[in-house]
Amino acid sequence: MSTPAPRITHLVGGAPWTGVAERTSPVYNPASGEVTGQLDLASAATVDEVVKIAHDASREWGQASLTRRAQVLFAFRELLNARKEEIAALITAEHGKVLSDALGEVTRGLEVVEFACGIPHLLKGGFSENVSTRVDVYSMRQALGVVAVISPFNFPAMVPMWFVPIAVACGNAVVIKPSEKDPSAVNAVAQLWKEAGLPDGVVNVVHGDKEAVDRLLEHPDVKAVSFVGSTPIARYVYEKGTASGKRVQALGGAKNHMVVLPDADLDLAADAAVNAGFGSAGERCMAISALVAVEPVADDLVARIRERMATLRTGDGTRGCDMGPLVTGAHRDKVVGYVEAGVESGATLVVDGREGDVDGDDAGFWLRPTLFDHVTPDMSIYTDEIFGPVLSVVRVPSYDAALELVNANPYGNGTAIFTNDGGAARRYQNEVEVGMVGVNVPIPVPMAYYSFGGWKSSLFGDSHAHGTEGVHFFTRGKVVTSRWLDPSHGGLNLGFPTHD
Ligand code: NAD
Repeated sequence: MSTPAPRITHLVGGAPWTGVAERTSPVYNPASGEVTGQLDLASAATVDEVVKIAHDASREWGQASLTRRAQVLFAFRELLNARKEEIAALITAEHGKVLSDALGEVTRGLEVVEFACGIPHLLKGGFSENVSTRVDVYSMRQALGVVAVISPFNFPAMVPMWFVPIAVACGNAVVIKPSEKDPSAVNAVAQLWKEAGLPDGVVNVVHGDKEAVDRLLEHPDVKAVSFVGSTPIARYVYEKGTASGKRVQALGGAKNHMVVLPDADLDLAADAAVNAGFGSAGERCMAISALVAVEPVADDLVARIRERMATLRTGDGTRGCDMGPLVTGAHRDKVVGYVEAGVESGATLVVDGREGDVDGDDAGFWLRPTLFDHVTPDMSIYTDEIFGPVLSVVRVPSYDAALELVNANPYGNGTAIFTNDGGAARRYQNEVEVGMVGVNVPIPVPMAYYSFGGWKSSLFGDSHAHGTEGVHFFTRGKVVTSRWLDPSHGGLNLGFPTHD
């Protein structure tokens, strides 16, 4: 008889939750298809319990000195750096991405922690002396209280780290609601906060689905919500959260285009298309899924991409492969459905990922890299975010046609242009309606000290993630006008204050 999969539960007030869950959901190893954990799904009452603990902790933590907060952040940075291989292994075991990619994800998260270590400088306010006679004005930014972070499956460690270190550094308490598909990495990272000396209750993890999310969106003590996920849910979270009076940033889905101009270095472009199209099995919000070839380069470019694809090894992420499985069986089937739809709608299937060998268990959730050519904008493989290893080549006659195609797309997360013409690149970065642009860089994820976020249906709200926008999002501004008593104080005056 096989042993039951281990329980994975919430982390509340610095310790695993000891209650009994009404509902659970299975967690898989996508490379073997096995159930490796049973995850507790929080009820609304459990969310209330966690928010209360966070609320109590936020009062003390919001008053902690900047020196103390910075010390905790530096300690957390050291612990995370020392344990990154462990976290990466947890990601690979539940998400499926290859180990090197999982390690890269943790490293990008570390960069946000390093940015947040500078919180004393980031929270400096302004001071104006003598705005009126003997009157000074100064500004400060204060913590919000409890904030919620709701994250997707595709970057189980990095996406929470876009928000949590900055929220904590700003003096807030956090409730993280990770994806139910790969919950273990967040739990492991949350334990490191405790080891770093963060008081219990400042960082909590509550696992769950719609029930938990809905309660977080309604709870009066949750002051802000940072959400990352698909566009329909991002829109829902934004609308419901703001209707409850919360500050919300909701990052949604994407359909990222890479434009290749005729003068581009085609070897560089082909390498980039393969890396950005199939890395992490295309399960990246910044993956390239539409390759816009400006004629006459398409035949040559497609040939070079096909050549490179033949060298890729798909398999278990722990075995040194290039690409791992998809996250669940259901998601793999959905992506395969898109491949079938692409064939039916008349696109040319250049490389069929449904065929070929994989270095992994038969029961894993496999689909190898797939390439379509002659894709047109009406086909579902072009219109929909597939979120799998499927790259579509759309042929266009000119730069103007490429720009028109990209700007007509409802998403606006990332885009890239490949060219050796600085003027064309400059024109594209100016004219394209997309939040993050790469010039000969296929995945232009900004560094932690800039802010990450798309335009149009890729982001609902006003604030992008991390960088100074993150600091702004997790604090609210206050301005003090002060006047210290002076023998010449003005006495009664019912007029509106003016300056002299
Ligand atoms: P998802 O929208 O299914 O889930 C995201 C989160 O929302 C999870 O925590 C999930 O539990 C919760 N959720 C799911 N359904 C819900 C519902 N009906 N009501 C309330 N909450 C619900 O997304 P996913 O499949 O986990 O992640 C992939 C998606 O995330 C892709 O669309 C990808 O483009 C997007 N993404 C965007 C960015 C970005 O920066 N814009 C980054 C990473 C991922």
